[in-house]
Amino acid sequence: MSIENNILSRLGVTGTDHINEKCRTVIVSALKDNPLSFAEEYLLRREWHKIIDGLKLLMVNHHAEKGIIALSKSDRPVIADLKRCVEDCDNIDLFFIDDFYPAADQAILIYEITGQPFSRATPAALSGSLVYDLPTVINIYEAVTEKTPVTRRLLTCTGEVALPSLVLGHLGVSFREVIELCGGATIGEYVILSGAPARGAVITDIDTPVTKSTTTITVLPADHELVKERSQSIGAQIRKSKSVCNQCSFCTELCPVYLLGDKLYPHLIMRQIAYGLAEPEEVIMGVLLCSECGICEVFACPHKLSPRAVNKEIKERLKQEAQPESLLSGQMNGHIGDGQISGQINGLISGQLQPRSNRDYRKVPFERLADLFSVGRYAEPPKMELLETTPGQVELLFQEMSAAGILPRVETGEEIEQGSLVAETKMSTGARLHTGISGKVTFLDKERVIIRR
Ligand code: SF4
Ligand code: SF4
Repeated sequence: MSIENNILSRLGVTGTDHINEKCRTVIVSALKDNPLSFAEEYLLRREWHKIIDGLKLLMVNHHAEKGIIALSKSDRPVIADLKRCVEDCDNIDLFFIDDFYPAADQAILIYEITGQPFSRATPAALSGSLVYDLPTVINIYEAVTEKTPVTRRLLTCTGEVALPSLVLGHLGVSFREVIELCGGATIGEYVILSGAPARGAVITDIDTPVTKSTTTITVLPADHELVKERSQSIGAQIRKSKSVCNQCSFCTELCPVYLLGDKLYPHLIMRQIAYGLAEPEEVIMGVLLCSECGICEVFACPHKLSPRAVNKEIKERLKQEAQPESLLSGQMNGHIGDGQISGQINGLISGQLQPRSNRDYRKVPFERLADLFSVGRYAEPPKMELLETTPGQVELLFQEMSAAGILPRVETGEEIEQGSLVAETKMSTGARLHTGISGKVTFLDKERVIIRR
C-alpha cells in the first residue's frame, strides 16, 4: 500500500510534501527533544505495533530500502516487544543513540545514524534519509488503515499541578480544562510554558487552545527563572550583550550546528550586535541555520547571554521582510526580503560538511537539560495512565495550517458531526482541520472556529 499526500492531508496528518519524495532510509525518531514530555515513552510501551506498521507503510511509500527506529540508550528497558517484532523484519533495525541533546534534531540524527553530515540548509530528502517522529507515524498509520482524522493530541501536563499526567487532549480544548483534568494548579499566580523549555512559549491566557503542535503544558510560578528570562525584551538582551559579551566564543564552540560543520558562528553574530563590527553577510545569514536549541544560552555562555534569542529575532525580521539593519548596526546591504531567504540559505551550503574534530566531547548530556533550563523538578515521569479530555467546546485555530490561505468548510450556526472537515488550505499539500466533537458552529472568522456541543 502506498500513501498519497492528499489522503494524509485530507485526514489532517501532515502539511509537508516530502511524503511524496523517494529516499533510501526512513528513520522513525523516538528521541526526546523536550525533557518535560513523556509521550514518547508511552507510545513506545503501548503503540509499538502501530509504530512498526506505520514505518512499513512509509518505507513502501518512499521506495526505501531500509527502516530505522532511532531510540535513546535509556529506552532499552521499555522496548522488549518492539525488539521482538523487529527481529522478524529483515529491513528494519533499531538504532540506539547516546543520550545527548539535541540528538532528535533531524540533521544531527541523520549524521549519527548514517555517518553522512548534511547541512541544515539542504532539504532532508537530498541526504537520502527522511525522519518522522512517533506521533506522526502513528497518525499516518491510523489515517491509512483506519481512515481516522487527527482530532486529538497526546501531551504531557506537568509543573505545578496536582497530578502531572499524560493527556489525550482534543484539538481546541483549553489549557484550563487540561490543567483541571490534572487536578488543577497547586499555586496561585502562574503562567504556562507550552512546549520545550528551549523553544516553548510562555503563555498567560489559560484559555489558549491545544493545537496539533502542543506537546507539553507546564504550569510554572509567574516569577520562575525561565519565565523571567523569556520575558526579557530583545532590546534588554542586546544592551546586556553590549556590556558583558567578552567574545570568549564558547557559544560557537558548543553550538551543535557549528559542531556538525555548518556555517553558524553565534559569537560573531553577537560581536556584530555588541560592537557593530562588520561581519561578512554570510556570517549574519548563518542565523537561518540556528535550531534555537538554547545550548548557547543555558550551557555555553558564562554570562547567560542569549545568542539563541538574538538569532531568533534576526530570523523573524528577515521573514517579515523587515530591514534588519537596526539590529545589525547598518552592516546589511539592501533589503533582504522573504523571497530572497531561500537564495541566502543556498549561499550557506559549501559542499560536503566536515564535522569538527572535537564534536564527540562537546555533546550536552540529555539528563542535564531540565536542570539547565531550571525545570528539573518538573521532569519526573508522570503516571502512565492516560487521561482524556471531554470538552463541551473546542476552539480550533487556523494558525498552523498554511500561510497560503484558509478555506473554512463550515458556516456559523451549522450542526456538524465529530470527525467533520472544518477547514482546508489553498495549498493541495496543506493539512486539513477536523473537529473532535459533534456540535454547533458558534463562531467563525479567519483565525478560528468555535464548536459547542
Ligand atoms: S540556539 Fe545557540 S547553540 Fe543552538 S543552534 Fe542556535 S546558536 Fe547554536
Ligand atoms: S559565550 Fe557569551 S560571552 Fe562568550 S562570545 Fe558567546 S555570547 Fe559572548
